[in-house]
Amino acid sequence: NVSVATTEEKFDHLVKKHPCFSGEAHFKYGRIHLPVSPTCNIQCKFCKRSINKTENRPGVASKVLNPREALDTLEKALWLCPDITVVGIAGPGDTLATAGALETFELIDKKYPQLIKCLSTNGLMLYEYAERITEAGVKTISVTVNAVDAEILKDICSGIFYKGEYLRGREGAQVLINKQLEGIRKISRAGVTVKVNTVLIPGINLQHIEEIAKVTSEAGASVMNIIPLIPQNELISHRAPDCSELNSARVTAEKYLQVFRHCQQCRADACGIPGKGKDLAELLYDQPLQTF
Ligand code: SF4
Ligand code: SF4
Ligand code: SF4
Repeated sequence: NVSVATTEEKFDHLVKKHPCFSGEAHFKYGRIHLPVSPTCNIQCKFCKRSINKTENRPGVASKVLNPREALDTLEKALWLCPDITVVGIAGPGDTLATAGALETFELIDKKYPQLIKCLSTNGLMLYEYAERITEAGVKTISVTVNAVDAEILKDICSGIFYKGEYLRGREGAQVLINKQLEGIRKISRAGVTVKVNTVLIPGINLQHIEEIAKVTSEAGASVMNIIPLIPQNELISHRAPDCSELNSARVTAEKYLQVFRHCQQCRADACGIPGKGKDLAELLYDQPLQTF
């Protein structure tokens, strides 16, 4: 009797070892972020990328690595923390705006096929790169979807660079939404587990969370991670959501998707078991970094 794993069983097996998909795994297994993607192809109004050693938030790394350096860094990290199950690339810019992330995954997949490869992207180029992403062994993808209505997204994203043009406002927002949904459909059909990350912004997308969850789950996403706005850049004076707004957004999203609640929004070069002990990036880059 040969038993064939169902999609659901494969999903359960995968998320059990992925600290960003399972609350239980978040305190048990480690992840490393390799900062190989310096630039971005869209402009979110809240985003401020930075190279520094002190700020603890996404979009920040102590340096940018090339793919070869990233592989060396991973080797060192596995030696320091054998509990690492996930190799993620999450910036500091967009992972599909430059070639570094895919080249890094291609190198890693040859040497460490057993590690879960995880890519985080704004989704603009997801459809175009879907084949190469799956060929590089990527099993989990996070797509940041902050609105599925261009009228709302134009207040979060000022514009996008797409096919040699800068598209502003509503026009850019609509192209981004279309590309994200096409990308989620294509990559989830290819067997990749998709998590949607949404930055919760009071007064802009707070009332829109249910629609995002509904539309992205129909497109093939499985998990949603709603994270509070960290006010920066053009939204520096904007209020972050409070705990009750965050909780009720998560309860609303749960009608459609599994909701992940443990995210602490780590840096683009984080390393170790999230929420447990010191971040190992300090040892990897020989520089003092804040503890997690
Ligand atoms: Fe987690 Fe995102 Fe990093 Fe993947 S890319 S390991 S989901 S934080
Ligand atoms: Fe910043 Fe990410 Fe938005 Fe690019 S997609 S502007 S890196 S938050
Ligand atoms: Fe991923 Fe958030 Fe966990 Fe960091 S804290 S590993 S970003 S889910």
